[in-house]
Amino acid sequence: MATFTENKHTTQQKTFRAAPMVWGLKTVFVNLYFVAEPDGSWVLIDAGVYGSKTRIKEAANQIFGSDARPKAILLTHGHFDHIGAVKELAEEWDVPVYAHPMELPYLTGRSSYPPPDPSVGGGMMAYMAFMYPKQPINISQYLELLPQDGSVPGLPSWKWVHTPGHTPGHVSFFREEDRTLIAGDAFITRKGESAMAVLTQERKVHGPPMYFTPDWAAAQHSVEKLTSLNPEIAATGHGLPMTGNELRSQLDSLVKDFWMVAVPDSGRYVNAPAIADEYGVVSVPPDKSNTVPKALAVAGAVTLAGIALAALSKRNKKNSKIKKQRPYSHNRVMHTTPVDYEDPLANTNNYP
Ligand SMILES: [Zn+2]
Ligand SMILES: [Zn+2]
Repeated sequence: MATFTENKHTTQQKTFRAAPMVWGLKTVFVNLYFVAEPDGSWVLIDAGVYGSKTRIKEAANQIFGSDARPKAILLTHGHFDHIGAVKELAEEWDVPVYAHPMELPYLTGRSSYPPPDPSVGGGMMAYMAFMYPKQPINISQYLELLPQDGSVPGLPSWKWVHTPGHTPGHVSFFREEDRTLIAGDAFITRKGESAMAVLTQERKVHGPPMYFTPDWAAAQHSVEKLTSLNPEIAATGHGLPMTGNELRSQLDSLVKDFWMVAVPDSGRYVNAPAIADEYGVVSVPPDKSNTVPKALAVAGAVTLAGIALAALSKRNKKNSKIKKQRPYSHNRVMHTTPVDYEDPLANTNNYP
């Protein structure tokens, strides 16, 4: 169990115990994890939303004692809600930040992620648009590559597993001895788009957040990979930890019914993925969902039943305004020949 040291000068941070020697902290709507080894050393996995540096530091000091400093920061992926405080923390703690090579373009200022797909119901992710960075973060000076042999710097009891789909270089972390899994956003334990699920603390296995997932074939393969690890405990980027048979049976169902329950009915990336390489996004399927009636229909079908149509239409106007301000298209790297979307291999073969 966590033993919290008394510190009258800081606010108690509400961490939750996810597994032995794994503590979670929720910043607004996303989790990050403090993971310790038996010798008392520890690492931080992910870095929350912008502005959470102090909260993360205070939580670390509560768990590990004052002036606690990790051996490293590890990133499941580089989405804005997982890297908010990474630069400040890396600087302050003077520690390296480890990520997968395919995630590097989005962490070195080289490429933006593929644009999100608002047609699948952005929900609270759309509301969070004000938090999206205006350009890709650049933390080159702290970045290191995860070792190719699957070992995890600072965590000798863990392995990393490449779980692309939600992002090209998404990784999960697995501790074989008690089969604890930190899955990032490869799958999550509450409905990613639903603000209501955040409030009600619903605990159920879901596919990766739809709004930000640009390769569904790869995402399914990744969930399959994680399910085959037969995890006993899963702690994810969004939602509460799940364990045992409840976890495994829901993961089995998710793998089996993935295209029915996890993949949106329609949307920009359903039939063709965004293509990325080590330099960033190469191409994205055309944005075919930019019509008001369809956006209204989707928004209506998602979680907001009961809200007046007028409110929806207002929201959609707001969303489209936000969308226009997004910088993604300016940062895309377009340097290979156009991709043939009819080619079945193009859907699965785009991550070397
Ligand atoms: Zn994400
Ligand atoms: Zn996330």
